[in-house]
Amino acid sequence: MQTLSRRKFLVAGGATIASQWASKPLTCQAAAWVDHRSHGPFQCRATFPLANLASVFQDLTAVEKELQRTLAVPPAGQTIDIYIVENEQAHRQLLSQLYPRVPYRRALYVQRAGHGSVYTYRHDQLDVDLRHECTHALLHTNLPMVPLWLDEGLAEYFEMPTSRRAFEHPHLSKLRWNLRFGMVRGIESLEQCQELKDMGGVEYRFAWAWVHFMLHGPLPAHRTLVHYLGDIRRGNPPGQLSARLQTALDHPEQAMIHHFKRWRQ
Ligand SMILES: [Zn+2]
Repeated sequence: MQTLSRRKFLVAGGATIASQWASKPLTCQAAAWVDHRSHGPFQCRATFPLANLASVFQDLTAVEKELQRTLAVPPAGQTIDIYIVENEQAHRQLLSQLYPRVPYRRALYVQRAGHGSVYTYRHDQLDVDLRHECTHALLHTNLPMVPLWLDEGLAEYFEMPTSRRAFEHPHLSKLRWNLRFGMVRGIESLEQCQELKDMGGVEYRFAWAWVHFMLHGPLPAHRTLVHYLGDIRRGNPPGQLSARLQTALDHPEQAMIHHFKRWRQ
């Protein structure tokens, strides 16, 4: 993925919309669905034949397995609907009919009455958008809440294809520049983000960075994230992840910086 398209993605894509935004039932009768595929929990409908997207759907079921393997997030306990239309115009039209109050997004995850749906259209980064939005959906089928910054950080991490996830995310090179010039966002500041408008490109990048650190960095950091998500899932008051990391590590911010300084393939 090139930097330019990445920026476009950050501005235009990736949103989690809570149920209060939903204004109409999710019948999606406005579009003519000509294909329907079932892959694990994902029920995908499209206004065009889906045969060419089989590998993308395999990726989505692989994300479900990776969430379980790396973070002990159980498989989705319910179905997740995916709606793909053939072009941006049809996507805009469908979203404006279903969610007239929601700002336009290239890809949109909506949770309504506990049920997750993803809306997008056929474009050259469809696979990235689907992995991103379906990560949100998979998390929210199991967890009653996920802090916004962590929700986005995990979705950014898992949006990449498996083979490129650890070393080739476009965030990595920009992050290295940021760190070289002493620019860091601590988890405490990311925890202040309450709405999507609080999350700009820098916040997405550092949300991704902290998730990467906790998945690939010191074992106590990984364990802290797993336990944090486990407490949320079990309904235990989770507190702030930043406070837990402070307890688990001597200097979390320094450890994160150190992690990326030596992160090489
Ligand atoms: Zn997102």
